[in-house]
Amino acid sequence: MQKITIAIDGFSSTGKSTVAKQLAKHLGYIYVDTGAMYRAVTLFTMRNGYISKEDFNVNGLVEKLGAINITFKFNKDLGFAEVYLNGENIEREIRTLEVSSFVSKVAAIPEVRYQLVKQQQQMGKDKGVVMDGRDIGTVVFPYAELKLFMIASAEKRATRRYNELIERGDDVKYEDVLRNVQERDYIDSHREDSPLRKADDAIEIDNSDLSLKEQFEKVLQLVNMTFKNLK
Ligand code: C5P
Repeated sequence: MQKITIAIDGFSSTGKSTVAKQLAKHLGYIYVDTGAMYRAVTLFTMRNGYISKEDFNVNGLVEKLGAINITFKFNKDLGFAEVYLNGENIEREIRTLEVSSFVSKVAAIPEVRYQLVKQQQQMGKDKGVVMDGRDIGTVVFPYAELKLFMIASAEKRATRRYNELIERGDDVKYEDVLRNVQERDYIDSHREDSPLRKADDAIEIDNSDLSLKEQFEKVLQLVNMTFKNLK
């Protein structure tokens, strides 16, 4: 069967990765979490002291971009690929609120985007890929056969993210999580390079009131329609 490219974009915590993982598993496709790649660069930036609440040494980071190697390795037990920074598994460390508080600033740097987009295009060059992020349908794969744009209210999204963080044992406040979600929405959609926006041919899915099962069924219908239209 012919393989397609599925691009899933949307605001933070709209459940993009959940649906992307389900789809990739169902279709036997590769799943690429591009947010994890921007988070990996952010962790590198933090560890090297280039970013703090007060300032951001952009030149320092840009000069060191060549020293960043991001890879994914499939974890059979988890059923998805975990992200590695220079050989170290950083899957857990990149999901903290601290990394979330810096990631949109790092992701707005054109040199960072250039490097990561190149790698993402390489990973998806043979199709058979489900990729989620902010610019997949507009910049990384503008010719993707299926583009989804996920939305949900900021409160619903913050509640989901808050529950995830609490479940893994992080000590966070709901108000801080909500503020972070809103701040990232703003920076991601107002940056100059590849701002978050819905591609003209993307299909919008508001999952504020959809169960995971309902959402998956809806998306699967769209996938099946896409395959039908290929013939
Ligand atoms: O998807 P996730 O919430 O993990 O993404 C973290 C951040 O990475 C986003 O808020 C955004 O700033 C950045 N990002 C991006 N482009 C992508 C994926 C993520 O700018 N394709």
